[in-house]
Order: sequence, then structure tokens, then C-alpha cells
Amino acid sequence: MRIVMLGAPGAGKGTQAKKLIDEYGIPQISTGDILRQNIAQGTPLGKEAKGYMDKGELVPDKVVLGLVEDRLKQPDCQKGFILDGFPRNTAQAAALDEMLKGINMPLQLAISIDVPFEDLMKRLTGRRTCRSCGQMYNVYFSPSKTEGKCDKDGGELYQRDDDKEETIKKRLQVYESQTAPLIEYYSKKGIVRNIAGTGSISDIYGKVTAELAKLK
Ligand code: AMP
Repeated sequence: MRIVMLGAPGAGKGTQAKKLIDEYGIPQISTGDILRQNIAQGTPLGKEAKGYMDKGELVPDKVVLGLVEDRLKQPDCQKGFILDGFPRNTAQAAALDEMLKGINMPLQLAISIDVPFEDLMKRLTGRRTCRSCGQMYNVYFSPSKTEGKCDKDGGELYQRDDDKEETIKKRLQVYESQTAPLIEYYSKKGIVRNIAGTGSISDIYGKVTAELAKLK
């Protein structure tokens, strides 16, 4: 199963992708997560990416494409993958098509999760993530039982640097101008499925898996 998750920051792509990993046993490739790991480890790539990320801008294509290419070569991607947060513009989408053509594994589906703008703001400003296991919470909609602590492993919950209000506005603008055109890009290939991203996580997940079931 080879899928791209499309949708604005805060649409719930990562949340849905993480549920799919558990059920289908295929990896999620989140370029945002890989970049944040590089920042945490202080790698040269992380240092280069951080300035762009803190401003809510896209990291240069050549940096991200290299990361994705390396990741797709790993054996766990043989069974398929869920791309989350990549591609972010049409140049990346075209480069991805080339990469996948080279390994004879074309994309099968682009799932576009649609959430109204006002909801995105609250989702992003309220978002908190566990430092140790990556579990996500939202202080408005799905808080942890104890404030600041993960329900699963007691890890510390933190707010991403780029989830601050000013950066969020920029990220949403970048989405509209650079990433939203990908819906049209994949529509032309006939592989887009639009899913309303409001409602409970499990309702949305039900709609996502219903689309995946049609693939088999
Ligand atoms: P995300 O976690 O997907 O919201 O990504 C957080 C930030 O990482 C974005 O605002 C960008 O600065 C950077 N980033 C993630 N994925 C990409 C990508 N495919 N291309 C360029 N920048 C990216």
C-alpha cells in the first residue's frame, strides 16, 4: 500500500498515519519528524533546517528529497509506506514520481483530509506531544489525564516550536500557496480521495480505511 496523506498542518495527517501503521504494518514517513530528529541530534542537516522551520517556511527541496530517497530504500518500505507531510509542493511531487517510477512502486492513493481554517488554528495551538513516545494530545479536545504528562508512559508533553501562533499563520499560508495545489496534481492522476477531517479521530479513521479497503 503506497499512500500520500494530504492536508493542511493540523488536519490530522500524522494522527491518522500513526493508526494506519499499527493496523497495516507499513511505515509512516514524516519528513517533519525526520527533520525534528535531526534538530534534536544537532546534525548539520538539522541545523540547516531549523531556521526555515522556526519561521514556518519550507526547507529547501534538495534537503528533503535526499531524506526521502534514503528512507524509501530501506527494507521496511518494500511492503509500502504512508507519506505524511511530503510532498509539500509540485516540484517535490514530480521528484517523488520519478523516484517511485525508478523502483516500480507508483503511488496508489492520495488521501486529502479537509478541515475548516478556524478548526486548524485551535488544533495547532492546542497540540502537545510526548517527548518519549510521540503520543499526541490537544489541550482543548483531547487533553492528557494529568496536565503536561503522557497517559501512556508519563513522558513530558511539549509544544512544538513551530506551533506558536505567528508561525502557524505562516505555515497555513505556505500550505495554501504551495501544498494545496497538490490536490489538483493528484486529481489529474485520478488517485485523490477527499475526506472530511472533522468529527472524532476514529470516525475519520473509519473513512480512511474504507478508502484503503477499495484498493484490494
Ligand atoms: P510538519 O511536521 O509536516 O508540519 O513539518 C514541520 C516543518 O518541517 C514545516 O513547516 C517545514 O518547515 C518542514 N518540512 C516538513 N516536511 C517538509 C517538506 N516535505 N518540504 C519542506 N519542508 C518540510
